[in-house]
Amino acid sequence: MRITKIETLPVDLRLKEPFIIANVAMRDMLFVLVRIETDEGIVGWGEAIPAWEVTGETRGSVVSCVRLFTDAGLLEYSLLGKEIGSLEAVREVMDAIEPKAGLRLVYGNPSAIAAIEQAMLDACAKRAGQPLFRMLGAENRPVEYTRNISILGVEETLSRVASGIEKGFKIIRLKLGRPGAGGLPGYRRDVEVVLGARRLIEESRSGALLIADANQGFVTVENAVEFCKAVDGKLDWLESPTLAGNLHAFRKIKAATSVPLMADEAVHGYESAEALLEIGGIDYINVKLMKTGGALRAIDLVDLAASHGVKCQIGSMIESVYGSAMGVCAALARPGVISTDLNSFELIADNYAQGLSIVDGRLRLSELPGCGCHFSENDLEGRIH
Ligand SMILES: [Mg+2]
Repeated sequence: MRITKIETLPVDLRLKEPFIIANVAMRDMLFVLVRIETDEGIVGWGEAIPAWEVTGETRGSVVSCVRLFTDAGLLEYSLLGKEIGSLEAVREVMDAIEPKAGLRLVYGNPSAIAAIEQAMLDACAKRAGQPLFRMLGAENRPVEYTRNISILGVEETLSRVASGIEKGFKIIRLKLGRPGAGGLPGYRRDVEVVLGARRLIEESRSGALLIADANQGFVTVENAVEFCKAVDGKLDWLESPTLAGNLHAFRKIKAATSVPLMADEAVHGYESAEALLEIGGIDYINVKLMKTGGALRAIDLVDLAASHGVKCQIGSMIESVYGSAMGVCAALARPGVISTDLNSFELIADNYAQGLSIVDGRLRLSELPGCGCHFSENDLEGRIH
C-alpha cells in the first residue's frame, strides 16, 4: 500500500475555559489534521498540535513542514509513493523523517512529524483490520490518568483538589510557577496549594499521589530550591521547575533538596533525552508524542529512560480525543509507564472524534481498526480554518 496524496486541514477547537499555566493562558487550540490517501483507497488521519511555547511550532510551520515532505524538489525526499502497508514499512519511513540518532532531513517540527506518523499508522492498522495497539504488541486495558488543575486562586484550586479526591483520582497534578498568582507575593500561592492539597489527601486517606508542574516557571535553580525546601516531603514529584535550556538545573536542585524531579520541556526527542539522562538529576520524564515526533519514538524514549533507571509518564499537549488515542497506544505498549496525562480532551468544548472514553475514572480505548478513534469528514464541516 503506497501513499498517493497528503493534505493538511487547519482546524480550530475551543476550550471550555482558559487553561492557565506559567507562561501562557490557552484558549482556542489551533490544530492541523493530516490526511493521507493510499493507492488501496484507505485513508489515514493524524493530528498535530503545534505547541509554540514548547516546541516553537505554529500552525503555519506544521503546514509548511508537511509540504516539505511531499515536494521532492526541496528535500530530495518525498513521502508520495512510499510503502506503508506494514508496521516495518512505516518504521522505515520514520527512520528517514525522524531518525533516532542520525542526520535529519528536517530539524525539529515534532508535531508535524507526529501527525504524519499517526496518519501512516492509522492507515496501516486499518489495512490490517487491527487496532494499532495490538500491532505494537500491546493488550487493551483501562489507563489511569492525572487530574490536572490549572493556576487558579488557592481556594478554587483546593476545592478542585477535594473534588478530584472525591471522584477517586489516584494522581492529582497541580500547575505552578506564575509569580503573584492568587494575589499572593512571589510563589506563595504555589506553596499554599501544595501544602493544602497534601493535607486534603492525608485527611481523605485516599493514598493519591500529589504531583506538580511548574512549566519552567521558577526560572532559576535558586527559586526552585527555595520552593522545594518549603514543600519538602509533600510532593511525589515536581515537573519542569526551571528554564528548559538549563539541562544542569535538575542535578543542582537534586543536590540541594529531596523532591523527586520530572523533565518535560527539557526533553523533546530522543537526542535531548540522551543528553539529559547522561547529565543526571532526573527521576522521571514526561514523554509527549508532540515532542518526540510520534508514538514510535516515544516508545523508544521510554525504553532509553528505563535503561538509565528513569521512569516515564506519557503526557500530551491539549490534544483532542483523536490525538490522545495515540498517546494511549504508546502507554499500552509499555506497561511500566508510571502515569499518563492523556485526558486533556476534556478541556475541549467541541471534540470531533469518538473512540477514547472515560469509564469508571479511567481511559478506555476502542478496539476499532486503526489508531482507535473515528470521525466522519462531515464532522469537520465548519471547523476547518
Ligand atoms: Mg509539563
